[in-house]
Amino acid sequence: MSKGRGIAASVRVVNGIRPITFIDGRSFAAETNKSTDVERIPGRTYNVDVNATLETGLETSSAGATKAVARLFADIVFDRPMDQAYTYAVPDELHATAAIGKRVEAPFGRGDQTIVGFCVRVHHDPPTRDAKFIEVVLDDEPLVTDALMRLTRWMADYYLCSWGQALFAVVPAGAREKAGVREAVVLEAILEAELPPAAPSLTAKQTAALAHLRRAGAMELRQLARLAQCGPGPVSALVEKGYARRTQRQIDRFAPVVGDDSPITLVELNDDQRRVWSTIEPAIANGGFRAFLLHGVTGSGKTEIYLQAIEDTLRRGKEALVLVPEIGLTPQTIERFRGRCGEVAVLHSHLGDAERGGYWRRIASGQVHVVVGARSAVFAPTRNLGIIIVDEEHESSFKQDATPRYHGRDLAVMRARLENIPIILGSATPSLESWHNAQRGQYTLLTLPRRVLDRPLPLVELVDLRHDGPPTRHHALSPKLEHAMKEALGRGGQVMLLLNRRGYSTHIHCPACGYVATCRNCDLAMTYHRQRAALVCHYCAYEAAPEERCPVCQQVTIRFQGMGTEKLQAEIESKFSGSVVQRMDSDTMQRPGSHQRVLDAFREGRIQILMGTQMIAKGLDFPNVTLVGVVNADVGLHIPDFRAAERTFQLLAQVAGRTGRGASGGRVLIQTYTPEHPSIALAGRHDFLAFAKQEMAFRRQHAYPPFERLARLIVRSQKLEAARDFADHLASGFRQALSHHGDRRPGGPAVKLLGPAECAVFRLNNYFRFHFQLQCASAGALHEVLREVLATARVPGNVEYQVDIDPHNML
Ligand code: ADP
Ligand code: ZN
Repeated sequence: MSKGRGIAASVRVVNGIRPITFIDGRSFAAETNKSTDVERIPGRTYNVDVNATLETGLETSSAGATKAVARLFADIVFDRPMDQAYTYAVPDELHATAAIGKRVEAPFGRGDQTIVGFCVRVHHDPPTRDAKFIEVVLDDEPLVTDALMRLTRWMADYYLCSWGQALFAVVPAGAREKAGVREAVVLEAILEAELPPAAPSLTAKQTAALAHLRRAGAMELRQLARLAQCGPGPVSALVEKGYARRTQRQIDRFAPVVGDDSPITLVELNDDQRRVWSTIEPAIANGGFRAFLLHGVTGSGKTEIYLQAIEDTLRRGKEALVLVPEIGLTPQTIERFRGRCGEVAVLHSHLGDAERGGYWRRIASGQVHVVVGARSAVFAPTRNLGIIIVDEEHESSFKQDATPRYHGRDLAVMRARLENIPIILGSATPSLESWHNAQRGQYTLLTLPRRVLDRPLPLVELVDLRHDGPPTRHHALSPKLEHAMKEALGRGGQVMLLLNRRGYSTHIHCPACGYVATCRNCDLAMTYHRQRAALVCHYCAYEAAPEERCPVCQQVTIRFQGMGTEKLQAEIESKFSGSVVQRMDSDTMQRPGSHQRVLDAFREGRIQILMGTQMIAKGLDFPNVTLVGVVNADVGLHIPDFRAAERTFQLLAQVAGRTGRGASGGRVLIQTYTPEHPSIALAGRHDFLAFAKQEMAFRRQHAYPPFERLARLIVRSQKLEAARDFADHLASGFRQALSHHGDRRPGGPAVKLLGPAECAVFRLNNYFRFHFQLQCASAGALHEVLREVLATARVPGNVEYQVDIDPHNML
């Protein structure tokens, strides 16, 4: 491990006499057969005053000789799936710069192609084989802190990816490539004390330029000329006459945004908040790992608690990290943090490389103390973290759906553990995983059961579509919902409508022969988009021209059915021609900033009806919304995923929470075919506790998370047979390992294998997919079996497999 500029060498005298003297005069006593750590100054040769063989690190010349050279090695990991570090020799000229957490270039593979890797260890243990030399050390400072080295190592072990893949995933491209940083030649004023005794005299212009330069210390030639209002001549003369020197500097083009000075309204905590805060405050004061689950209904003042916690942490000279779902990173949210906490680094997926790199560097150098960001912000390189907060901790978007398939919330908890600090997970509808942890005492449960200022939760009414539905199949609004909209708008209120399905018609079929329009590449139904005049696959984006005749039976009876947001918009525009209607879904919100423009317009009252997918459901706070309508609550309820009920409950509870936030109250209408379904009935009563109780019983009965851990393996190939054969082969490997498992861990929790079977969506993007699941009460046992079997699996060239630990996507 590197320590300042020296590197600790471990020296062991095998059969020798002491002491060993270094050329710089230091000496130390080494006992035979005992390791002694010495600080090694890079690039020095050491005198060893012995007639000894030194086992590692130092090489002696012939017997009685006095010279030894320490060989330095670096272990490097690469962005490849193999979880192994490769040992390279460090050439002398890189001894001073090679360090853990920096990137290096090194020859790799049979062709010795130069690729970039991360240095994870620096040491003196010679490898058994001849080591290749690293070629370049790319970074001046380590990109990855010690805590993040440990976090990524844990991540690789837990999610079964390589350490290299984890490291390359955490460091944003902007920080890696130094985007936004440019090399520039600057002029630097020479200190007066260093000027030659008889320095040549200066003209008036040159004197003026020098005065500016001295004030600034250093700046670019052009900049100085502009400031001194002169041409380049007088500026260059300063160098020629010895008053300034030219040097190379890195200039950061990134200018951080600081909160404006608008007055902030400080609120006094209410009784519930005070009770919560009295538990959190000592945890921040004392430090140490502790996890809090803050369960507070929508509008109960959770964010106020976060702000207090951040302010308190800052006062103690520490830093704060806040994770929010990507969609919740609105300027409104960010302003709220900036207004109270000063400069805030914001990390999300729409940042350009320069901006991301700029924030990354400001965080790493300790210039900014508060980081707010989406999933990957869990890797923010803060050096002095005092608290982590995860808002809307139940959100599935914290789970990454590509390698490394990590869960941002779970990594945040692990990071808090590694850094030994408190963490707050907040939600109105906690995930059952976190709820379970709170129930068994792993997390401390804190509750805010009421909205602030005695505002009631909105009244929710269910509309049974079986009896009280719209007049025809082609309509979406029941008479009751339509009437409620008219009433709300008539009183000057605003309306939000949720329909979690985009496009115009969602089901294109032939009633004569049963044909359904499906994607050419996927086993998924195509959706008709009227604006684009095309059938679109929502998974692979394949587009086809809409057919008029059924391609199978040639009857002209093809039907376009099912209601998407595009069709809903048409209906609303025709029924509410006096109101401005805006649709918000991923089709209309493609341009950068469009999301924000719509939210601003809605806030300012320029839009009366905002309708769209779940995009509108999350975290928004508009006091004038007096009606929320859910067009079809059953979308998403009947998909083959054990979390379908939980997600539906969360979505409905969240969208219902969008109203009644102002003085004028609020009302919610939910249209459904299954009003008795617990997800719907209990969301209608804002009853998380009852929902959690019921759903936990179901999970326990089926040994689903949070009671058991799940690992999902997906095998895919463009050749159906190849995918099936490999899936069978892997599964039999697992069955074999499981039959021995009990012998090795007698009494240990059983690992169960389910499958293999075709995935719910069998063909996706032209790949045939099989999956199977491993289930076990212990994550450790699950990992053990997975490692054992996958280590020896021979994967055919035309097959790929993925391992998903704690999977969220079950399609
Ligand atoms: P949540 O995060 O639970 O949705 P917020 O913290 O955003 O709740 O609070 C909802 C609204 O109530 C915000 O406008 C906030 O400023 C306000 N608020 C929060 N706590 C208090 C309080 N103690 N007194 C008055 N207003 C409060
Ligand atoms: Zn497709």
